Amino acid sequence: MSLKSDLSKAALALKRGRVAALTGAGISTESGIPDFRSRGGLWERFAPEEYATIEAFYRDPAKVWRMLEAMEKLLSSANPNDAHKALATLEERKLLDGIITQNVDMLHQAAGSRRVIEFHGSSSAYTCLWCDARYSREEAEGRGNPPLCRCGRHLKPDVVFFGEGIPPEAMSMADQLAKSCKAMLVVGTSAEVYPANQMPHIASRSGATIIEINLEPTHLTSSITDIFLQGSAGEVMGALVEALS
Ligand code: NAD
Ligand code: ZN
Repeated sequence: MSLKSDLSKAALALKRGRVAALTGAGISTESGIPDFRSRGGLWERFAPEEYATIEAFYRDPAKVWRMLEAMEKLLSSANPNDAHKALATLEERKLLDGIITQNVDMLHQAAGSRRVIEFHGSSSAYTCLWCDARYSREEAEGRGNPPLCRCGRHLKPDVVFFGEGIPPEAMSMADQLAKSCKAMLVVGTSAEVYPANQMPHIASRSGATIIEINLEPTHLTSSITDIFLQGSAGEVMGALVEALS
């Protein structure tokens, strides 16, 4: 089926409201933040399995902080793109109930989205794994580069590393949103990371229409996706909002 007729089918589903979104790193690549699949980017220098696990942080926090500093640098100059903006517009028009994001880049909030469930946390706060002290982002910024706790150990941003659990509140809010939506937009995620990748399945089992937007098919595409819109998130989401008006 052509992209155009699929776009109008998707727009129809969105017009009914009660829409949720699940976003992944692919929604932010057009903002200059590489996903795990991008070539020649951050993740070639810092292999996620070596730098983004909780074991790695316990073992050698100074090493993991080299990756975190490179990531922070990218994030500080990144701006929301058309896909982030389109989701904010859908919420403003009362069609979108909320976003479950796997990203830690805070670009949905920067685009104006209000109901954002940060499934993998963010670096808006920091914790010391050794003495449990908590710091706001501002407090952590005053504690050196990389920031150290009063106890002398490295602080960890409240992002979920591989091997860590999902924050319970995010988990239960995401579960509720997935169960109650009538359509779910799945944007720029490979749906390989558990348990975030369960959200489209929960939504689908509850009868929601699954609309997937990705440059390439994923394993969802041939299983539960109802409408697959192949293309870049910025272009497709922009076209979707246009098709609504
Ligand atoms: P992923 O890297 O596994 O997959 C990204 C997906 O997005 C791929 O399927 C790719 O085809 C697609 N994609 C890439 N560019 C796109 C574009 N312009 N338009 C549409 N689709 C595009 O990402 P994931 O599924 O989110 O899982 C990786 C994990 O890494 C997540 O847990 C996330 O927390 C973390 N991560 C976050 C960021 C961020 O905060 N921006 C960046 C990298 C990784
Ligand atoms: Zn401490």
